[in-house]
Amino acid sequence: MTGKSGIRELKGIGEKTEKLFAKLGIYTAGDLLRYYPRGYDVYEEAVPVSEAEEGQIMTVTGILYGRVQVSGNRQMQVTTAYVKDITGTLKVVWFNMPFLRNTLSGGGLITLRGRIVQRKTGISMEHPEIFYPSEKYEEKLHTLQPIYGLTAGLSNNAVSKAVRQVIEGLDLSRETLPAGLRLKYGLAEYNYAVRGIHFPEDKEVFYQARSRLVFEEFLQFILSLRKLKAHNERLSNEYVIQKDDRVDAFIQELPFDLTNAQQKVWQEIAADMASDTAMSRLVQGDVGSGKTIVAVLALMNTALNGYQAAMMAPTEVLARQHYETVTALFEKYGIPLKTVLLTGSMTAKEKRRAYDRIECGLAKIIIGTHALIQGAVSYDNLALVVTDEQHRFGVKQRETFAKKGGAPHVLVMSATPIPRTLAIILYGDLDISVIDELPADRLPIKNCVVDTGYRKTAYTFMKKQIAEGRQCYIICPMVEESESLEAENVTDYAKALKEEMGEDIQVDFLHGRMSQAQKDDIMERFGRGEIRILVSTTVIEVGIDVPNATVMMIENSERFGLAQLHQLRGRVGRGRHQSYCIFMSSSKSKETRERLEILNKTNDGFKIASEDLRLRGPGDLFGIRQSGLMDFQLGDIYQDAGILKEANEAADWLLKNENEYVQKMSDFETISSVII
Ligand code: ADP
Ligand code: MG
Repeated sequence: MTGKSGIRELKGIGEKTEKLFAKLGIYTAGDLLRYYPRGYDVYEEAVPVSEAEEGQIMTVTGILYGRVQVSGNRQMQVTTAYVKDITGTLKVVWFNMPFLRNTLSGGGLITLRGRIVQRKTGISMEHPEIFYPSEKYEEKLHTLQPIYGLTAGLSNNAVSKAVRQVIEGLDLSRETLPAGLRLKYGLAEYNYAVRGIHFPEDKEVFYQARSRLVFEEFLQFILSLRKLKAHNERLSNEYVIQKDDRVDAFIQELPFDLTNAQQKVWQEIAADMASDTAMSRLVQGDVGSGKTIVAVLALMNTALNGYQAAMMAPTEVLARQHYETVTALFEKYGIPLKTVLLTGSMTAKEKRRAYDRIECGLAKIIIGTHALIQGAVSYDNLALVVTDEQHRFGVKQRETFAKKGGAPHVLVMSATPIPRTLAIILYGDLDISVIDELPADRLPIKNCVVDTGYRKTAYTFMKKQIAEGRQCYIICPMVEESESLEAENVTDYAKALKEEMGEDIQVDFLHGRMSQAQKDDIMERFGRGEIRILVSTTVIEVGIDVPNATVMMIENSERFGLAQLHQLRGRVGRGRHQSYCIFMSSSKSKETRERLEILNKTNDGFKIASEDLRLRGPGDLFGIRQSGLMDFQLGDIYQDAGILKEANEAADWLLKNENEYVQKMSDFETISSVII
């Protein structure tokens, strides 16, 4: 077997299973090897039965008490038993496993591991894993069992078995990192790391294995960035764009003065575009710092020079919002630049129309989603591409444009809260501008962390704000299991809220299950102030700008990551009115409170993320992603900031001493897979 072998070569994988694996993007043995667990189950010591607590996964050891009974019908057969130790008795149920009545009939100690559930009929352990006789549990004790991302029809066990076969079958002795480097940074061997990430014997092995793989992942990424930077630096400027006087006039006419930071960044952009090489620049600025207007200046200046300029947003809602902003501004100040929208949800006819206008050069500014770089679009003379919020513009994309014409200037806008030292590494291929100042008219957001008893008061407060002409957001808790449950949740909440708020206050809702047209409609009506309270899931998290909204209330805020809460909070405090953020929490736990209080204390996104991490401690490493911002497979820029810095140092060293190795290791493929 080699890494390229199809997974059909593995025992137990036929055509049907092969298709299921394909859904996960797994085709070869190598794919399986790199399909790292999403988290781990830790097999802890058994606890006394009396400590059974709802919601927990626990292990208990005892004797079966009384008879094992089977009830129910053909669809659902329930096997019930009772396990007893000196502290008490616990009910245990299994579903559709009637044969257990016979297998469990022996007597002697049994160990059961499963989730404790509270139902109307009382507390019980549901569908536990069985270790019978009890000694069998010893083998598993303290081990970590991998939990893989799955798809319907494919069990964790099936994935686990397949991975095991690959690990046994492949020659993993080839080392990918130079020995000197491994020694210097105390990194495990590849062989050890791959085994350890899938089947760690204990936590220590897991940490060792993970660190090594994260290091390698970062190193590859950084080396690719270095290569890319060298490439960018050689990219001559095919679109030399001088600053047009009409842009200055436009700035003068805006209803607000640009902040010093905005002016400085705009100058940097203008200088780039007029220079000898093409622009590759990142504009970093916290939520609400006013990145959009800076982007608009760049788009406008490009178009006034006779070229096309495009802006790409991560969601349709955001693309549409940018489109509205730009067209409204141009209309108001009489700027004669044709602007078109291009998104995936437009009808074929609408798209055709947009394509035509783009191709013939009539459209000067094009705003949209990823549809901007998909197949059918062909540009007349595209000279600038702006990407907004979290979407890094990959090499692949630049090449796509290059094929369709020249190499455009690239401007990346990001609110990712990372300190400068990390930004320099992670955006190593780009020049960095920072908008480190909020518009002067902003009042700091007032925060409060409250329990659900405060909900009525919060509603009354919202009514008052609305009476003063303001608008509010309410974020409903997410329902992890399913988007449809989540939708139901939001709908129900909005309905109840309508009753509460009365006829005069327009309440509406937004969730991921709605069609694009519905979402757009809601956002537009909220933007126009026709909707006063918007109940929503986190779909509004990114970028949405309605300066008149002053209250953000987040239900079950304990369920969200702090970085995400910070983003959500960024939806208010965007205008001159005092804004408020209410973190509602039903949790009484002291830690939860402490975590949420961090948001109270600081507005600095990076501090928030790091504090969150510190409070949760490293034990929480399993399966948690802090940032989700840059999609590394294993690495996390917050958790692994230390490794990131080491990998950067290692990249310097390699480039100086082992250039041959670098050539082998870095290629554009790896980096573009990370970026988008
Ligand atoms: P973000 O940086 O989060 O993308 P936006 O660009 O959406 O922020 O700007 C937030 C709001 O601030 C917008 O309504 C925008 O019109 C407004 N704004 C931008 N710059 C200024 C400024 N210098 N003074 C006052 N308001 C501004
Ligand atoms: Mg924005």
